[in-house]
Amino acid sequence: MFEDLIAANRLYADDFHLAGLPAKAARQLAVVTCIDSRIEPLAMLGLAPGDAKILRNAGGRVTEDVLRSLTIATSLLSVTRIAVIHHTACALITGPADLTAAIGRAVEAEPPPLDWRTITDPDADLASDVEAIRRAPAIAAAVVGMRYDISTGLLSEVVT
Ligand code: ZN
Repeated sequence: MFEDLIAANRLYADDFHLAGLPAKAARQLAVVTCIDSRIEPLAMLGLAPGDAKILRNAGGRVTEDVLRSLTIATSLLSVTRIAVIHHTACALITGPADLTAAIGRAVEAEPPPLDWRTITDPDADLASDVEAIRRAPAIAAAVVGMRYDISTGLLSEVVT
């Protein structure tokens, strides 16, 4: 089931050129964004491997684990600026009950009682994610909230 990945990796390793790349973020940047497979975090920001820490989850929401990773990134890995990037047409832009129902239909079972962190008000929810990072006691960094437009590839600053 995963043979294609191993085969592709052999070709990748044949031409491997990232050996010796420092673990610190060369552009002092961390990006928090969605798992949506239409998003290319490095390419859309003009970044290369080694430039930034990329944190992804459904919706690009700032969760406890994102705060954990950002604390490590800012304290030990040279990150001084953080971009939280939500996007248009995100599957998380829905109500929690609707998402729970959709997952229940897909798995034909009762979904686990998770906090799905759905996005019910895109601007307010992005602002609240930015604020959660700004309030975090051990994270010293400039933080911005942006929205990526899936249909144009353009970013707009929503929370400055
Ligand atoms: Zn999304």
